Amino acid sequence: MSLPVFPGPTPAFAPAIGAVPATLPPGARVLAFDGAFVVVRDAPAALPDEALPITTPHLIGTLDGALVVAGALQGEVPEGHRAMDLRGLASALPAAHWAAAAYAAQVLHWDRTNRFCGACGRPTVPAADPAKRAKVCEGCGHEVYPRVSPCTITAIHDGALTARSELSGVNFDAEAIDLVRFQQAYQASSRVVQVARETFQSILEIR
Ligand SMILES: [Zn+2]
Repeated sequence: MSLPVFPGPTPAFAPAIGAVPATLPPGARVLAFDGAFVVVRDAPAALPDEALPITTPHLIGTLDGALVVAGALQGEVPEGHRAMDLRGLASALPAAHWAAAAYAAQVLHWDRTNRFCGACGRPTVPAADPAKRAKVCEGCGHEVYPRVSPCTITAIHDGALTARSELSGVNFDAEAIDLVRFQQAYQASSRVVQVARETFQSILEIR
């Protein structure tokens, strides 16, 4: 069985942390966000080539060697463009482009939701060191980094492909077998989650 293919970071998209250059180099890509929605060219959906006006730019990385920055869209969504949910774009964009947009969405979410200190309530400012993606409280020095959320994914790669290609003629035996396989895969991943929970619990209880 081959490894599942997810539109995650690929060699074509390399995330990076650092200062946004005052003048963007030629070919740089600017990703503009309207809340959690990314602004794309419409029909067919594609990342914009032109530099849309943004506020609070963040360095995201490089895409096919070109610098990528992202920020909140300034003004209205321009003609011929659309603000779209990342889920809807997963199959519409090349994997590396989607990975860049998804990474940018996480960075902007962290930026948007950590304007004030969770400890003392005072405003936060970007960390002085541009190599550190952190927000620092001006009052108490509390630092906030983008969140890393662990997740468990069950890949039913072969089964999903089979189901997709069987557009005509449903084989009930095959469906029943698939159902059992999916159920087992689900139970196996539930067990992984349970073991992980028990492990963390044991670690926490070590004194
Ligand atoms: Zn504080």
